[in-house]
Amino acid sequence: MNAFDKFYKKTLEERRAILAEYADLTEEEQAFLASTGALSLEKANHMIENTIGIYSLPLGLSMNMRLNDKNYIVPMAMEEPSVVAAQSSGAKLIAQNGGIKGTATDRQMIGQIELIAVPDIQLAIEKITNNQEKLLLIANEAHPSLKRRGGGAVNLRVRTANTTQEETLLIVHLLVDTREAMGANMVNTMVETLAPELERLTDGIANMRILSNLVDDATATVSCRISPESLATKEQTGEWVRDRIIAAYTFADADIYRAATHNKGIMNGIDAVVMAFGNDWRAVEAASHAYVARTGSYKPMTKWSKDENGFLIGELTLPMPVAFVGGSIGVHPIATLSQKIARVESAKELAMLVCAVGLTQNLAALKALVTEGIQRGHMSLQAKSLAMTAGAEAEEIEAVATFLQESKQMNVLAAKAYIEKLRQN
Ligand code: NDP
Repeated sequence: MNAFDKFYKKTLEERRAILAEYADLTEEEQAFLASTGALSLEKANHMIENTIGIYSLPLGLSMNMRLNDKNYIVPMAMEEPSVVAAQSSGAKLIAQNGGIKGTATDRQMIGQIELIAVPDIQLAIEKITNNQEKLLLIANEAHPSLKRRGGGAVNLRVRTANTTQEETLLIVHLLVDTREAMGANMVNTMVETLAPELERLTDGIANMRILSNLVDDATATVSCRISPESLATKEQTGEWVRDRIIAAYTFADADIYRAATHNKGIMNGIDAVVMAFGNDWRAVEAASHAYVARTGSYKPMTKWSKDENGFLIGELTLPMPVAFVGGSIGVHPIATLSQKIARVESAKELAMLVCAVGLTQNLAALKALVTEGIQRGHMSLQAKSLAMTAGAEAEEIEAVATFLQESKQMNVLAAKAYIEKLRQN
């Protein structure tokens, strides 16, 4: 029997004991989990400016993820109820169908140098192209350890863009293999170092010198194939559910208002994993939304279709600038703990896992939406949230939530009145 079976029915202490055994957690790691502020105030004080405390979030484990024939327990940090449960049930359905297949490209981040007031754009492009080797050398000298690790600045691309005032901007992209790091700081150092040489070559002025978050040279792609039988519910056939899921995708593809919500659901999963792994979720958000708008219209991040055998096919490709080292990863104890729990060993593997979570989250949401709707599944968790909002103490939450659900009075006033009644007894 799997130690994680019915994990949701266990107490907090039981869950931590199961995890400690599974992930071979040290006493110190177990202590992080048992305390609400795994990050120390001392560390927090050095992480950002004007620190006054620590903001904490629940850390949950989602079950059943199978990616490239490997099973994962996936840590997720977030405040929204239902996401972890949806993740586990979506992953179970996909795992029963053979799991997710994933690939990731080599990871090249982009540093941008914007050159303005260039007198002769064509000549400038020629000079940059002819001096590519020297320019890459200068960039690599700015952060030599990256090259020693097998990465570094690997390519230069020159682009132009026209402003509304019909001025032509010359933009140089420096492509950097940042290995296991996200690389924002490394790339920023490189482009700042490179800018004076580009000014000299082009007779222009280097204005912006910074990473682009649209990292379309560092993508991960995941897909799944689901048999119609496994989609059937008590009321609907699997073919019906499959076709409605495809119709829901078609709606998101046709309508930006739906696409925004379709993608928000995907980011529910993605952000929660990115946070648990101590990564920069704003960078992942920016990359993902820009990527699906790159044709000029905003599109859904996933695609759902059926193959010639009638199986439901789900696909997702996103830029995934996640890191295994650097940033706050070595500082926040939960970040390294998440790597250990999920048994992830590289940034590329993490990129695929994050995308796999996004695809799973989307399947779970679409299946619920086209069948029973999401409110039924959300009810009990919503009731708990309401109970807490109304001031219920830990030992009162369950009773208040049960009352709210049974009486169908899902509001804070009703919860407050019930708490008062409970306390009078
Ligand atoms: P760091 O500045 O932490 O650099 C990565 C560190 O990891 C380096 O010190 C590097 O060592 C070390 N390292 C150890 N092993 C490896 C390895 N195998 N591969 C690569 N590096 C290794 O972080 P990044 O440059 O990655 O920048 C990420 C941070 O920048 C995030 O916190 C992000 O929030 C922030 N940021 C984001 C921006 C954006 O998204 N637009 C803009 C600015 C900052 P060594 O020095 O020896 O190479």
